[in-house]
Amino acid sequence: MSASPEKTVPFGQENIPLHEKQGRVDGVFHAVAPKYDLMNDLMSAGLHRAWRNLMIAAASVPKNNRTFHHLDVAGGTGDIVFRLQKRAGTNVKSTLLDINASMLDVARQELATKDFADRVEIIEGNAEALPFEDKSHDLYTIAFGIRNVPDIQKALSEARRVLKIGGHFLCLELSQTDVPILEGGYRFYSDTLLPKIGEWVTGDGSPYAYLKDSIRRFPSKDNFAAMLREAGFEKVSYESLAGGICALHSAWRI
Ligand code: SAM
Repeated sequence: MSASPEKTVPFGQENIPLHEKQGRVDGVFHAVAPKYDLMNDLMSAGLHRAWRNLMIAAASVPKNNRTFHHLDVAGGTGDIVFRLQKRAGTNVKSTLLDINASMLDVARQELATKDFADRVEIIEGNAEALPFEDKSHDLYTIAFGIRNVPDIQKALSEARRVLKIGGHFLCLELSQTDVPILEGGYRFYSDTLLPKIGEWVTGDGSPYAYLKDSIRRFPSKDNFAAMLREAGFEKVSYESLAGGICALHSAWRI
């Protein structure tokens, strides 16, 4: 009997075998790590800060002093963990997990300057196989990360597995605009300006060409919501931000 053909997944404009995607994505983030935070500001004209703050505001962090476990997956250089810790009490512990050592090196350097450093753990790991026990976390966040994970459905199942009953899943992700009049401008920006800004700042525009293709080929907001339901999440919803170019997805393990 012949083996069934391997699933293919999008990478840039190509479709590649599932097992090849992680290595290609890792190459992109090793290349961009030193300039990643600067590029976020330039690429979104600072808008990403407002979106990130919305995610933090939506996080159901308790007001009392019950110990609360926050897990930020594909956490990169640490922005989401740093924002949440800045607002949270000493009862909130954060774990920043990412597969890319170069991104985590930047996070470690920055964390060393923070007064909440002892409440944050940094772990190199894979969203598709989280090194945590079932029902061990209260809050799972993932910002601009899920689109880069090769097997998104597997990562969502893992997210649900590690959340406690009553645990909250929040995902910030770039998307296609749902305002037709913005489409032309957004396409020009992502096809032309984005790789140019990348080339200008980092000397190489190709990682940013990957970025725009990864956004274009990411499931629509409704399809992503359906994937969350398929993973077993409940009370699944999303909020479109900035004409739909970004979305904040919310779901619960009940
Ligand atoms: N969350 C950060 C932020 O808000 O700026 C970083 C987002 S960055 C666009 C995407 C991150 O996803 C990269 O740091 C990359 O290494 C990480 N990543 C890609 N595949 C992953 C995987 N399978 N498991 C964990 N992290 C992954």
